[in-house]
Amino acid sequence: MPNLDRFSQGLPDPQDKPLDMVGVCGCGCRERIYFGDKGVWRDDGVYYVNGDHYAKASGAEGMDVEWS
Ligand SMILES: [Zn+2]
Repeated sequence: MPNLDRFSQGLPDPQDKPLDMVGVCGCGCRERIYFGDKGVWRDDGVYYVNGDHYAKASGAEGMDVEWS
């Protein structure tokens, strides 16, 4: 079983996952994020599938800015 702990992975290793995989969503849903995905949010080195996931992870109910 692959190790899904994002803190233990370090830099992406092209030998152990697809080249275009950026990481796993930081909100805890474990959805995979690929390079070029639309709407991906990045905060402090952590990637999120989109603004909704970021809002969930940050504890906000919503965000004032629009995203698409
Ligand atoms: Zn998520």
